[in-house]
Amino acid sequence: MTLPAEVDVLVVGFGAAGAAAAIAAHDAGASVFVVEKTACGGGNCTHSGGFLFDVDGPRAFEYLDTLCFGKTERPVLEAFAHGLVEVPDFLLSLGGSTAPVDVEAFGGMLPSWPHFPGAEHVRYRQFVPVADERPGEGLWRVLEGAVRARGIPVALATPVVELMTEGDGVTGATIEQAGMRRRIGARAGVVLASGSFEADSELRDTYLPLPLVSVGHQGNTGDTLRLAQAAGASLWHMSAFFGWLAFVHPDYPVGFTLDVHAPSFIYVDGDGRRFTDETGWEVHDRLRALTTYLPRRRNRPRVPGWIIFGEAARRAGPLHGIVGTPDDYAWSPDNSAELEAGWIKRGSDAAELATATGLDPAALQATLADYAAAVNRRADQEFGRSAATLVPLLPPLYAIPFMPGVATASGGPRRDAQGRVLRPGGAPVPGLFAAGAAGSIWGHLTEHGGGLTDAIVFGRIAGRQAAARASRLVTTATTAEGAT
Ligand SMILES: Cc1cc2nc3c(=O)[nH]c(=O)nc-3n(C[C@H](O)[C@H](O)[C@H](O)COP(=O)(O)OP(=O)(O)OC[C@H]3O[C@@H](n4cnc5c(N)ncnc54)[C@H](O)[C@@H]3O)c2cc1C
Repeated sequence: MTLPAEVDVLVVGFGAAGAAAAIAAHDAGASVFVVEKTACGGGNCTHSGGFLFDVDGPRAFEYLDTLCFGKTERPVLEAFAHGLVEVPDFLLSLGGSTAPVDVEAFGGMLPSWPHFPGAEHVRYRQFVPVADERPGEGLWRVLEGAVRARGIPVALATPVVELMTEGDGVTGATIEQAGMRRRIGARAGVVLASGSFEADSELRDTYLPLPLVSVGHQGNTGDTLRLAQAAGASLWHMSAFFGWLAFVHPDYPVGFTLDVHAPSFIYVDGDGRRFTDETGWEVHDRLRALTTYLPRRRNRPRVPGWIIFGEAARRAGPLHGIVGTPDDYAWSPDNSAELEAGWIKRGSDAAELATATGLDPAALQATLADYAAAVNRRADQEFGRSAATLVPLLPPLYAIPFMPGVATASGGPRRDAQGRVLRPGGAPVPGLFAAGAAGSIWGHLTEHGGGLTDAIVFGRIAGRQAAARASRLVTTATTAEGAT
């Protein structure tokens, strides 16, 4: 592909945010070029569950602000809320449809935060896939198709390695392609849609509170941070992230997300003890239960931990299978292949399971006895697990080790309501925009559907604003020419 010397808007990253930004900038009349670091587009969208949400009404800001713990400015959240309600129609206009999610069918998982102010106005939707594609794959098919249909050029395997600056503003970027470096000017702006840093182990260790493994797209290695900081950006939300329990196998660089589809399970730590209400956490927030440590052990006794489950849970569905990578492995529907492979351990009783896992037999025995007593009482006095999910763990017993897995980190450049990247002190960096996971709006907790909507809403905002800057520059130039 021929690389242009200059365009109006250069979009960095070809995931949901990059696609939305490119579409919006193009539709507003700008010339657009997209560069993507990896060999194919989609980023985390293709791994996602395709869930979306919106919240409106007078308490929409309050709801979002409660989730963000006050770490995201009001105008940003208001712009987000405003854009949220447009997402289904936007996707419809591109040829993709979404359908309301039956919250009852996702009992225990949705709604995410029912006790927060404004929660009664939260609605969930999911992308409707065709044939055998997953919802996230379908969403990406539609977004990518809309970019291609507009003739917007996309250069794959072409990372941005540096931003070009002039004065205090950004004027383009240096890209690398097949070992060669080239500069592409961006008259109106560069949109960073290049994700966060969850695939970089050093940055994870630096900013996040757990020894995490990555469970998503592997292209997000913190380039956004380095590029934005070099241009003078302020950072935000560096310690926020969401993820799930994950199984790690040395043959796979990416973790397998884990979900148990029947309530006959508990979590135990490295000491073989329960440590939390296993069914009480919001689905994106479970890892919070692993962040504390006990002084009686070195480091973190809950990492790695174990999910202990019974026969009903083994047969209820694949432990890995709703969302996530790796793509090249199909987990067996009843978990039998993973049992056979030794990834899942089995024991006819607690003593045998302890031998198989290396857990302390007496501790595991005591834990299972305590849990059985809680089931009999219909009350989990220690951790408060709901009576509805207190079901017996009957032998044979199974166990799979888990690590905390990060899906997306929030950290990146601070942005304003127009998607402009801000300096410390709040002035925008002229010509630099950010959207989606490249400095996500989520400052502490995450809403179900919050990642894709952040990408689509702020992608569209940043694309439109960058394009508007293009027309302002043309007007200014014309006026200046007329004056001379
Ligand atoms: C398993 C999983 C399930 C999820 N499910 C959902 C869900 O159901 N609903 C929801 O709302 N959210 C979900 N999310 C989160 C959601 O997928 C992300 O928040 C969203 O896709 C982020 O989109 P993005 O375009 O901002 O970033 P990304 O999708 O991360 O895209 C960034 C792109 O930039 C590229 N890039 C990086 N550096 C450079 C560079 N230097 N030059 C050029 N390109 C670069 C990357 O390779 C990548 O393609 C899920 C995430 C995971 C991992």
